[in-house]
Amino acid sequence: MHERILYVAHDHLNFERGVLKDANPATDVVVLVESARMTQGRPWHKERLFFLLSSAKHFAKMLTNQGFAVRYIQAATTIDGLLAARAEFGDLPIQSAEPSSFRQFAQLQQFGVKFVENDFFLTSRNHFLMWAEKQKSFVMENFYRAQRTRLNILMTDGEPEGGRWNYDAENRLPPPKNYEWPAYLEHSRDEIDMQVAKQLDCSPTATWATTRQGGLLQLQNFIENHLHAFGPYEDAIAADNWALHHSLLSPYLNNGLLHAEEVVNAAIDAYKNGKAPIESVEAFVRQIIGWREYINGMYWFLGEDYRNHNQLHAERKLLPLFTDSSKTKMKCVRSVVSDIEKRSWTHHIPRLMVLSNLALTTGTNPQEFLTWMREQFIDSSDWVMVPNVIGMAVHADGGILMTKPYASGGAYLNRMTQHCKSCNYDPKLRVGENACPFTTLYWDFLDRHKDRFVKNHRMSQQVNGLKRLTDLPELKLRAQQVLSGLDAGTI
Ligand code: SF4
Repeated sequence: MHERILYVAHDHLNFERGVLKDANPATDVVVLVESARMTQGRPWHKERLFFLLSSAKHFAKMLTNQGFAVRYIQAATTIDGLLAARAEFGDLPIQSAEPSSFRQFAQLQQFGVKFVENDFFLTSRNHFLMWAEKQKSFVMENFYRAQRTRLNILMTDGEPEGGRWNYDAENRLPPPKNYEWPAYLEHSRDEIDMQVAKQLDCSPTATWATTRQGGLLQLQNFIENHLHAFGPYEDAIAADNWALHHSLLSPYLNNGLLHAEEVVNAAIDAYKNGKAPIESVEAFVRQIIGWREYINGMYWFLGEDYRNHNQLHAERKLLPLFTDSSKTKMKCVRSVVSDIEKRSWTHHIPRLMVLSNLALTTGTNPQEFLTWMREQFIDSSDWVMVPNVIGMAVHADGGILMTKPYASGGAYLNRMTQHCKSCNYDPKLRVGENACPFTTLYWDFLDRHKDRFVKNHRMSQQVNGLKRLTDLPELKLRAQQVLSGLDAGTI
């Protein structure tokens, strides 16, 4: 006789975490709901939808094989799906792990679902709250150091392993020349994958696995072939390789197939076994126990209205190049957007220094940009994208998360990418038809917001640089041409 309905969201696909960790096939029914809102509510990237749906269907099959009564229900909404489960199994109590967005939390709570703690992270929401309430400013580095100490990761006798908290001096290298990048895994497709592809009318790439086993292979491949050089090239953008030494693990971490703990342990084992140097292992660990946990913690700490910030009053509509890479001649942007069109993914530096930098310096509306980022990336969730976009990417919160905006001109991209040499534009020029739009827009952005940023000690030097520009009137004129050209899809 069944006693409970366990609801498993599409981002909680883990048998040892959340509501399944004490599940009993004799008494529990497991329900997954594919809501129409999830599939049709927005123009989601097909690769993303394919990954999420196929992973959930594989997971449901795995639970069935373990003897559970499992229902994978397609319904208009999640609540409709749960009502259908109750219609079949009776008015049983429903339990789930704490949902990962404000919206779903409120909906399920209102419906009477009882929550168990969300343990898909290493930091509980309460623990983060206690940390945040003690801070004067929310500097990620402080949180990261506290995490290293609390979790005893890469620590020796209370001190950071190797004597330093970070190895940025060894990292942040530009892309290497004549370098042989190791091949990335390709995942073969099974019958479930093919059914989902047919349902979505898409031809998925072989980039993303849709099972835990595939996620574990991806982890193993990263540890064996990429981790050793992850740190030095983590900020580079290569023209001949779309992934460099990045792990490609975020989709599996974010839908539950992998957990942060096993991923971090694998990296630390590689360090202890002498397979990867400290500068790479520390840089990777920072992403997982630092950034990822911090962003999730801040999402819940900052509250539901945080997404609506627009402190820089940015009102430009989303540029056409974001939805069609052929709508720009900017080589770096075109290449990054076309990567996303293919695989629904690009690593953190193109996201920050190309896409977000462009949205920031063009004054693109933060909520429009957030919506686009949310729909396009395979690893996006509300908790990931809201703080990352509103706080970090476009500084729409006025500095709650980051002390300064990440605006940069073409010089940075010329150093860190291999695109400028074959571009129509010249990163060194800020005026004239061949000027790099990033360079022009960078100065225009500083000029538009100089009154605000001159008071910021991390920005005042950059703002004061405006005084040296003898061609500022000409630059302002060129910036207007660039903005009109970007709006028209001709720049
Ligand atoms: Fe991008 Fe400017 Fe370099 Fe062209 S010149 S690739 S637009 S940074």
